Amino acid sequence: MGAALEIRNVHKSFGAREVLKGVDLTVPAGDVVAVLGPSGSGKSTLLRTINHLERPDLGYVAVHGELIGVEVRGARLHELPPRAVRRQRTRIGFVAQSFNLFPNLTAQDNVAEPLVAHKRLDRPAARARAVELLAKVGLGDRGGAYPRQLSGGQQQRVAIARALALEPGLLLFDEPTSALDPELVGEVLSVIRQLADTGTTLVVVTHEIGFAREVADAVVFIDDGVIVEQGRPAEVLDRPQQTRTREFLSKVL
Ligand code: ADP
Ligand code: MG
Repeated sequence: MGAALEIRNVHKSFGAREVLKGVDLTVPAGDVVAVLGPSGSGKSTLLRTINHLERPDLGYVAVHGELIGVEVRGARLHELPPRAVRRQRTRIGFVAQSFNLFPNLTAQDNVAEPLVAHKRLDRPAARARAVELLAKVGLGDRGGAYPRQLSGGQQQRVAIARALALEPGLLLFDEPTSALDPELVGEVLSVIRQLADTGTTLVVVTHEIGFAREVADAVVFIDDGVIVEQGRPAEVLDRPQQTRTREFLSKVL
């Protein structure tokens, strides 16, 4: 199978600060990649670039072979029109650290919303599909609950069900368990683990080293806007080659 995601020489600055300094990454379809790195190293910016929320200053991102932005030294060679970018974004699921549910909608309607907005399902069909998706994350019986009536772990699982609604080929997670109480982390990781087993391509920014070791096909360590080291979990986590990787791991393990 081809690459689900190709990132080539991506640079991104905010003002004078260069946050991504030439990132290259290839993720084969069906793989799970865990992205580790210190706070401020550019992990969220990288995910936002993949999801078209930021545009690279240089380099390109291709999702399932479709280029997003190609620019070589200021000359934009190819750019998708806004409509194509919106369509592509519906094929990329994104789950953030904070759950970002609509507080005034039930769990079921939170999940149904993208189906109504993007798949043009009518409300009853969208709600029926939402219940199926909620069942996948273990919440088939909580569709009528409002976010405030759910635990953080349950809210995050609703957010995952919502991200799955459009059947994305690529799912991005940005520290999906960082905002959770420790006792709720496991239920969210186990849902992500199940997704990994279904062959969806996943890119997961996480500090959960055990999860990365167990579930990821590859671990990527990013520091100061560059990928310092990448490889199989056992290589990067147990036999890191780079000093910066070793220092980071000694702090989090
Ligand atoms: P991480 O997710 O690894 O903690 P981020 O990608 O969020 O890192 O941020 C990397 C750096 O980029 C930080 O110094 C952050 O302050 C800066 N940054 C991120 N987004 C913006 C923005 N929209 N404007 C200015 N600076 C930003
Ligand atoms: Mg971040």
